[in-house]
Amino acid sequence: MYTCAHCTVRACRDGQLDQLPQNCPMRLHPEILDTPLPEYALPENHEFYVACSEIEAEGYGQWPRIREIVELCHTMGYRKLGLAFCSGLQAEARIAADIFRKNGLEVISVMCKVGHTAKSDVGIQKQVRGPGVRETMCNPILQAKLLNEAHTDLNVAFGLCVGHDSLFYRYSDALVTTLVAKDRALAHNPIGALHCAGGYMKPRLFPYAEEST
Ligand code: SF4
Repeated sequence: MYTCAHCTVRACRDGQLDQLPQNCPMRLHPEILDTPLPEYALPENHEFYVACSEIEAEGYGQWPRIREIVELCHTMGYRKLGLAFCSGLQAEARIAADIFRKNGLEVISVMCKVGHTAKSDVGIQKQVRGPGVRETMCNPILQAKLLNEAHTDLNVAFGLCVGHDSLFYRYSDALVTTLVAKDRALAHNPIGALHCAGGYMKPRLFPYAEEST
């Protein structure tokens, strides 16, 4: 199957199309070469895709991600922004909401603990504070449903847990972009683990290495 992550040719980017690796998706599916998928022409995708791609070029290397979101909203004419955030990052979410608001956007923000439902009520047994302590579950499906009810134009995932973000994406009616990827061990900078994968992080990264080799 495909192994682009280990490709050294990178012909899709640099154009050496006579050197495609044997398992290159473009070799196995020559019909995709130099041909945009029809989905990019769909009304729900075309303007959005062109807009975010041009924002990439316009602010390349200069605009932080939050600025790019602001620019995307203005380019698309979006006015109502959903902010689904983690309770552990409320202070940062408030700063983000203020930045969005000062840039003319209406922000509907919903914290992950909305609903005040106990983890035990959905069958969660392992808890942060141990068994027998009431902990409130994260509620990404409800976050999505509340933002759907508000008819947001675009939703921002802000520090949602791994997998909770997946459910939020699944249940959100509006398209979702991620502003913050949660990583409690690395100040929400998950790529740090990869930068240090051969060194300081190595002892923490391979819990199943023996099983897979
Ligand atoms: S698409 Fe082909 S050329 Fe591009 S990275 Fe993947 S294997 Fe390499």
